[in-house]
Amino acid sequence: MAASGQDGVERRGLMFVLSSPSGAGKTTLSRMLMERVPDLQMSVSATTRPMRPGEVEGKDYYFVDQKRFDEMVAKGDLLEWAPVFGKSYGTPRLPVEKALAEGRDVLFDIDWQGTQQLREKAGTDVVSVFILPPSAADLERRLHTRAQDSDEVIRGRMDRASHEMSHWAEYDYIVVNQNVDDAFAEVQSILKAERLKRMRRIGLTEFVRKLQRQLEK
Ligand code: 5GP
Repeated sequence: MAASGQDGVERRGLMFVLSSPSGAGKTTLSRMLMERVPDLQMSVSATTRPMRPGEVEGKDYYFVDQKRFDEMVAKGDLLEWAPVFGKSYGTPRLPVEKALAEGRDVLFDIDWQGTQQLREKAGTDVVSVFILPPSAADLERRLHTRAQDSDEVIRGRMDRASHEMSHWAEYDYIVVNQNVDDAFAEVQSILKAERLKRMRRIGLTEFVRKLQRQLEK
């Protein structure tokens, strides 16, 4: 089964990727999408980094040790994987395949390395959005308000931000998160428009044929 829009026309499912330096608001935007957009499933990654306060096993991540992670890689259980901040992160393959097969799109919060790998595997089924902060000061403020990381970790994330941002041109869309409501509206519009792309709408030939048959009666 493939997904279908409000008009009932069957279409190929899509893989919707949000990337950004940490602190640019991507997690909030992902949560808003999950709450407000129908037929969308979040891909829950596996990681070897420690759990942060407030995080939930199986919801935010599957927290695994390096041995388990290496097993998943060896068995081909990960659709993509990459080292980030010295820890391993990867996307379990089965839930993604299941969601797409059942007619849901999948939302990914992964970095540029993972996005490149998905693009190589899934081509135009991948739609990628890069979120930029409006300024460095804003990024730093968000990292501090999040209060989940030590000052040292925050310093490390700020240092990495510039490097991560250098990959912006590999993405289909760029959204500057000046204001979360506006950024959400932009991201939602991208998803809406991408869902309507002709090449994904495999049911259109049949839909138009039916219309023509009705008109010819
Ligand atoms: P955090 O530790 O702040 O949750 O995530 C750090 C970075 O790892 C973020 O940029 C996030 O997008 C990225 N990330 C999370 N899960 C995955 C994954 O499964 N694959 C890849 N390639 N990156 C991931």
